[in-house]
Amino acid sequence: MSQLPIIHAPAYDAGFAPGHRFPMGKYTRLMELILQSGLASIMELHAPAPASAEWLTLAHARAYVDQVLACDVPALVEREIGFPVDQRVSMRARLAAAGTVMAARLALSGGIACNTAGGSHHARRAQGAGFCTFNDVAVAAHLLLADGEVDRVLVIDLDVHQGDGTAEICAGTKAIRTVSMHAEKNYPVRKQASSIDVGLPDGVRDDAYLETLDWLLPRTLEGFSPDLVFYNAGVDPHGEDRLGRLSLTDRGLKDRDRRVFSFFRDRGIPIASVLGGGYSHDIDAVARRHLITFEAASEFV
Ligand SMILES: [Zn+2]
Repeated sequence: MSQLPIIHAPAYDAGFAPGHRFPMGKYTRLMELILQSGLASIMELHAPAPASAEWLTLAHARAYVDQVLACDVPALVEREIGFPVDQRVSMRARLAAAGTVMAARLALSGGIACNTAGGSHHARRAQGAGFCTFNDVAVAAHLLLADGEVDRVLVIDLDVHQGDGTAEICAGTKAIRTVSMHAEKNYPVRKQASSIDVGLPDGVRDDAYLETLDWLLPRTLEGFSPDLVFYNAGVDPHGEDRLGRLSLTDRGLKDRDRRVFSFFRDRGIPIASVLGGGYSHDIDAVARRHLITFEAASEFV
């Protein structure tokens, strides 16, 4: 039986106090849930080493990379990120970026791989924002292109918020196509242009969402044949998410993830998933929503 590569580091969790607006404990809880589930017997666990400054500067300004590595980020930027960048936050951002690189490489060799962090899609070239320090997907895409491991990369971002940072960093790189389907009225107020954007109205439910996804998936490959897909599987489109504006159920999220994995796996295109957003004061509830993505992925190993 094939195994599902899962990338995880205990230090993905920077140990915020319970009740923080950013549910940091979900990374630890998700791994506990994975280990308690049927996934434990089919997963192949990998741990990343922190990304180097050289990797990070492929997607970010050198000055910002240096600030994060030195834990010397200006207060105004920290406010835009949503938390102070201390040693643990700095380390987790480097680990998450390297974890997405690792997921990409494992997907290239085995077809599919899942990072238990990443999807920090609001981080722009010049700085972080919206709970995102480094844009792991943009770093990984640029690194694999620079190394000649891939010629073309597709990013499909189904987190409920627009992938503005990814769109900004990757704009002008013809080898990367960015696709974002999100709640139009949600953060960020000022959207960036992805290659394809689908802005959904508030309150969209499973059926309408999945119908739109079925329309969107074939379009992601029109005139573009990627060697690798990054999938931001944020679970914040869920109806009970604290920051989402859509109304998906657990069932809807699972159908979404299955459709994405099966669409690309059926076409022989390697796919690496990253965690993305998911917000609740109930850490267990949000971690269980993220678990859905891993269970869906396990059907396509
Ligand atoms: Zn989000």
